[in-house]
Amino acid sequence: MHTPDGFTPSHVLPADLGSDAHAFAFRGDRVLVVVEADDTPAFPTLAALMGAGIAGVPHFLGRLGRAGCVAINLADDVAEPPGMRFVGLRTLFFKVPEPLLALAARAFQVVDWDRTHRYCGRCGTPTRDRGSERAKECPACGLVAYPRVSPAMMALVTRGRDLLLARAHRFAPGMYSALAGFVEPGETIEDCVRREVREEVGVEVGQLTYFASQSWAFPHSLMIAYTAEYAGGAITLEDDEIAEARWFPADALPHLPPSVSIARRLIEATAARLRAG
Ligand SMILES: [Zn+2]
Repeated sequence: MHTPDGFTPSHVLPADLGSDAHAFAFRGDRVLVVVEADDTPAFPTLAALMGAGIAGVPHFLGRLGRAGCVAINLADDVAEPPGMRFVGLRTLFFKVPEPLLALAARAFQVVDWDRTHRYCGRCGTPTRDRGSERAKECPACGLVAYPRVSPAMMALVTRGRDLLLARAHRFAPGMYSALAGFVEPGETIEDCVRREVREEVGVEVGQLTYFASQSWAFPHSLMIAYTAEYAGGAITLEDDEIAEARWFPADALPHLPPSVSIARRLIEATAARLRAG
């Protein structure tokens, strides 16, 4: 997930949004879609939503081309209007245009922040939205809360033409991926890569090379991916999350994560590079 081409972000709700605005309305973690005759889901326009009598707290996201985009926080007891359905975001991969799915994921993070920052975390006073930026502030003590983004690293360790891949217990059977973990306070991403690789598989790494990053709205991660050259140590599993880790030749990879994940792109691009090298 990333910022779609042609999207201009903004947090200032315009006076006239226009009837063609895209509405990303969430009840809990499920988003409201219109179900077309052939069962294809589509995000409703704001006009369609209002026509169906659905209303909630709006947050402006910006414009995709000329069309406004609004995240809407619905109450937990809002019923599905006729012809519409609440669905999980993950079910919409490859079923709605990618730019709209990326904006729905962005909308979910804004709505989730709106819901979880209604009161000041320091003094408990109800917060209010700031006019100057996407933030909530406490009128009593001045604490400011921004939407939460949690940086996480992903590391694909290479040794010659081999890749180190691991299986977490929660993975689908037979699936392996690169190592990953959240950044801790005080760490750089590079510190985090070295620590996670050491903690998860007992291996030391040398040269790190940045690959790419991906926003991941489940619930608010920013995944930052690297390749890391093996520098020493034998695979030792000490982390309870990891069921198995091993070296795979670049031309004999196991079952990998789905193509929507940065893990898949990282592994395939690196394997292709090693096979060609
Ligand atoms: Zn406060």
